[in-house]
Amino acid sequence: MKKKSRFFQMICSLSAVCLTLLVSSPLALLAFSNINTAPPAVQPESLSKAAMYTEPSLVADAYYMNENTDSQPILAKPAYDVFTVEERQAKGLALEVPKASPYYGAKVVYLTFDDGPDPDNTPVVLNILKDSGIKATFFVVGNQVEKYPDILRRIYQEGHAIGNHSYNHVYRELYQSPNSYVLQLRHTDQVIKQTIGVRPRISRAPGGSAGSFTKEYWEMLRKLGYIEMGWNISSGDASSANAKRIMGNIAAQMENKNLWSHAVVLMHDGRGHSETVKALPEIIKYYKDRQFEFGVINLETPSPW
Ligand SMILES: [Zn+2]
Repeated sequence: MKKKSRFFQMICSLSAVCLTLLVSSPLALLAFSNINTAPPAVQPESLSKAAMYTEPSLVADAYYMNENTDSQPILAKPAYDVFTVEERQAKGLALEVPKASPYYGAKVVYLTFDDGPDPDNTPVVLNILKDSGIKATFFVVGNQVEKYPDILRRIYQEGHAIGNHSYNHVYRELYQSPNSYVLQLRHTDQVIKQTIGVRPRISRAPGGSAGSFTKEYWEMLRKLGYIEMGWNISSGDASSANAKRIMGNIAAQMENKNLWSHAVVLMHDGRGHSETVKALPEIIKYYKDRQFEFGVINLETPSPW
């Protein structure tokens, strides 16, 4: 009986994969080319897990790095790598990130959410973003991804950018040495790749790089091809600020017009951050009213400072 049902399951997964390939065959070709510019052809909801693992790059509208890392990335799209650091090393592929000139618009804002995925906050944040028709960036923690893989899949499928925010977010373990920091990034890469089939190239140091990174950390990240991305607007939601205060913090920092070309806003969707979720519609409205363009963090995002 057991064998039979497993066989049946296998047939089901196989036919789902075949169907997906058939429906998206023109896209399948694109997926193997260096740059996939086409919009997703298949509704994520209709994909079985097996199909998603087989053709992850068909799901999201993103820039995928594969064997050729030296091509020009595409503005406004999340960037993912088909290979982990280990796989690149084994294949003798370049590790460093491809060169891209930083994009400064007249008014660009990057909404970023750290410490998720969280079962209470992240889905609500995703709903708000969807209703507003905008994309954001999620710096996720590896052990949270293990607990809530479906939420990570949703972030990915809905076209947001994903960044690496360590495996366990424990400062005393993370910042023992550049090596212990990078080991956590690589571990989280594996977890993310197992979940969505690709891994990010952007990362954000828990607590920020200031005060934790030495020159050796930066050197190691550069060599391994991670783009460390801080922020220049803090929502102040790490303390117990309420929604009104969070909005006020952001508005006050936006007085600095030098930040308008690349405002990177730090927020949290991790546990206990329901006030951030509450403030989010107002934050989005603030930027929409002022005609800001909403960007996702990718290889072309300028350094926040
Ligand atoms: Zn964090």
